[in-house]
Amino acid sequence: MPIRVAIVGSGPSGFYTAEALAKSDADCEIDMIERLPAPHGLIRYGVAPDHQTTKNVSRNFNKTAARDEFRYYGNVDIGSDVSLDDLRGMYDAVVLAIGSPEDNKLGIPGEDKQGVIGSAAFVGWYNGHPDFVELNPDLASANVCVIGNGNVAIDIARLLVKTREELSPSDITNDSLDALQASSVTDVFMLGRRGPVEAKFTNVELREMGKLENCAPQIDGSIIPDAVPEDEDMSDRDRRLRERNLATLREFVPRQPDEFEKRVHFQFYAAPREILGGDKVEGVRLERTEVVDGRAVGTGEFFEIETSLVLPAVGYRSSGLEGLPFNDDWGVAISDEGRAGEGLYVVGWIKRGPTGVIGTNRPDGQEAARQILEDISEGTKPGRAALEAALAAKGTRIVNYQDWLRLDAHEKAEARDGAPREKVITVAAMLEVLDGG
Ligand code: NAP
Repeated sequence: MPIRVAIVGSGPSGFYTAEALAKSDADCEIDMIERLPAPHGLIRYGVAPDHQTTKNVSRNFNKTAARDEFRYYGNVDIGSDVSLDDLRGMYDAVVLAIGSPEDNKLGIPGEDKQGVIGSAAFVGWYNGHPDFVELNPDLASANVCVIGNGNVAIDIARLLVKTREELSPSDITNDSLDALQASSVTDVFMLGRRGPVEAKFTNVELREMGKLENCAPQIDGSIIPDAVPEDEDMSDRDRRLRERNLATLREFVPRQPDEFEKRVHFQFYAAPREILGGDKVEGVRLERTEVVDGRAVGTGEFFEIETSLVLPAVGYRSSGLEGLPFNDDWGVAISDEGRAGEGLYVVGWIKRGPTGVIGTNRPDGQEAARQILEDISEGTKPGRAALEAALAAKGTRIVNYQDWLRLDAHEKAEARDGAPREKVITVAAMLEVLDGG
């Protein structure tokens, strides 16, 4: 009997697991279960819409999906349609590739005020994620504060200041593009609680900020160190990457504030302490910091930035899934290198937290495949026959991969001039396209 594997989640870590299993010599049936009709998770809904080359990896996912042993079950929710326990009863192995869909909290007073929008929601909104189409961010503020110095923060800052011409060839949704172009935003503050050496954004992304059509990056040159301090404990590669960031930031120093209509201000050594205002955000109170032993330590000097929109991009977490051993402090599954129980495996961000690039998930998927084939020599469970019976009993409208390819073709046909696609942004509308409503 084939080994029957269910993979929950259709983002990079799920697809890399499927690919590794499909390419192994073992006889496997691989069923991928996804809550949304459309597959590809972070590729479709997380990667910035103007980073299309990163999204090309989905072509490889399509190749995996075309293999005989693979089936896709989109529009199926683990929880309401079928539970994790049920799934474990149906399949020899269940792999959770469910990512880290929630925002880390800042943990400061005022962060629940209207006008504080975490990066998961904001990125989801401009990427047409069905959960965030109603977000309607208030973009009437001239100043916007983006908290964090990672690649997500820099993606958000860039999207806020790009022109229509720059954004139009991307797959940002028409609604979000129009909202961003109608915005009053002129000054984006990228707020890092530590210094330029500690910033987590990568150099390609940072350099992009210097090449924008209508935005000049701004930085106070006096805070940029001459070099990465010798006593910093890091690999040569890491040191080189950080030196490159410092060099790029130095190039920003002469840029004039009135060069263009918009500015992105890189403000380092600035830790958010309070979100100000009544029900709605009116500003952010920050404390100047210094870095001591790698940590941001407050100096007792405070300042404020007036704004009605605060976008924390301070990393992600998961809140788990019923039946999954879970570390709530860390927001990741409890596992032994990916083994989370008998026949239960985790891969990607739910396993190791939200770090690395898309390709980092590939060895993860390969490791999970290796573990499954090491642990299970022969299948004993019914797999897709049981899943399909359970979903039929529930009346779930399964979206299969052929359906997705039809939706994909529809989105491509609906694209504005020069754009790769116009995403269908609600589940109801996706099903309507598929069912010819
Ligand atoms: P990240 O790289 O971990 O950055 C999080 C940032 O938030 C850090 O600067 C961190 O500062 C800051 N932060 C955390 N808690 C904070 C607090 N309480 N107050 C102020 N600042 C706080 O996370 P991310 O940007 O969400 O990215 C997630 C992963 O996706 C990363 O591996 C990233 O490289 C990847 N990604 C890659 C791309 C790309 O390749 N183009 C694009 C997007 C995302 P500290 O360093 O001081 O903790």
